[in-house]
Amino acid sequence: MENLSVSDAQQCVLDSVSVLGVEPVKLEQCLGRVLAEKVYANRDLPPYDVSAMDGYAVNSADLVNIPASLEIIEDIKAGDMPSRTVLAGLSARIMTGAPVPKGADAVIRVEYTQPLDENKVQMNVAVKPGNDIRMRGEGMRNGEVVLNAGTAITPGVVGVLASLKKAQVQVYHRPRVAILSTGNELEDIDDPVDPDKIPNSNSYALMAQLQELGIEPALLGIARDDPAELEEYLLRGLRFDVLLVSGGTSVGVHDYVRPIIESLGVQMKFWRVAMKPGHPLAFGITKDTFVFGLPGNPVSSMVCFEEFVAPAVRRMMGNTSLYRRTLTARVTHDIKHQSGRTEFVRVTLDVHEGSYLATATGAQGSGMLLSMARADGLMVVPAASTGLSAGEQVTVQLLGGSFFQDVPGF
Ligand code: AMP
Ligand code: MG
Repeated sequence: MENLSVSDAQQCVLDSVSVLGVEPVKLEQCLGRVLAEKVYANRDLPPYDVSAMDGYAVNSADLVNIPASLEIIEDIKAGDMPSRTVLAGLSARIMTGAPVPKGADAVIRVEYTQPLDENKVQMNVAVKPGNDIRMRGEGMRNGEVVLNAGTAITPGVVGVLASLKKAQVQVYHRPRVAILSTGNELEDIDDPVDPDKIPNSNSYALMAQLQELGIEPALLGIARDDPAELEEYLLRGLRFDVLLVSGGTSVGVHDYVRPIIESLGVQMKFWRVAMKPGHPLAFGITKDTFVFGLPGNPVSSMVCFEEFVAPAVRRMMGNTSLYRRTLTARVTHDIKHQSGRTEFVRVTLDVHEGSYLATATGAQGSGMLLSMARADGLMVVPAASTGLSAGEQVTVQLLGGSFFQDVPGF
């Protein structure tokens, strides 16, 4: 199989995966999930015209000549129903959220009035009809579609669902994901430190990338570069919806992962993508499982997750937006690049005079995990590029769901 471009490989992965099934979850547990049903408004909100302020419900025509003195006929609190009509020359004291009484066509804020005695108030400004009234149904109208399937559930969406009294909502399943690391040289987190070994970081970095997507993966541990042991571990992994295998997908004589998964019935879709880091990426499918053979180099593994696994998993979970947000920045230094592969340079971002500046996070070797730990984003150097000069515009893919900064910025 020849090298695929990043976008062809992405397309191949996304064409292979589809949205999983649906399950009900309680409102309290739905944050971060994706709505799998259309949600309709079940009432008008507000249910009647209400006051937007504490003040007086009046006829705006009475306030043409100000100051004007009006009789107070009633006190209306939120939750009360008005009992009288506000005729010309009359007013009703009204609180925020209380129904506007019949007759009145405007509310005047208490700050613009002055009490004269218990039953009389002076209005000091004129107001237009509709002033400080929230109209019936302006928030939502009975029967209208307020949320569509595919909506990512944010705190704002939870608020809307609560106003619709949806104590339970239909959401898409999250895939069950397993992570397997491979390599004789690896020691796991609980093993005693052996100075000759390489600590298994990939299982945990991948775990964290999945947790960012709201998925709690199963960690299958470390399989030795031994065909029989690998087969046993891979069989376990194939019981999941998605299996991430780290390492052993390259061309070394002990890189057994690809031949063994093929012997277990995985249909290989591609191997090798024209990217840096992340070249020896493999992707295969069975009837029930998507298998990603991720390169063992820690940065490669994480970058391949970002570019291929995350969009696939997001699609499975019902998301319609699959990709990280990108922004345009200026690179602060030259970047050497040999054309042929798309390169993902780990960068920090700063803002200077209204533009973003991207600076590489030090040495960019595919084993240098600190370059990833320090990064705000991945700067994309297109495959055709022959290098970038300081000041050139670049596209940066943000890492992290939101882009936080160290000052408020306004
Ligand atoms: P491989 O893809 O198996 O040829 O491994 C490439 C490089 O990544 C080697 O230097 C491995 O030691 C390293 N590596 C493989 N798996 C892991 C892992 N789980 N954690 C950290 N480094 C790893
Ligand atoms: Mg290996």
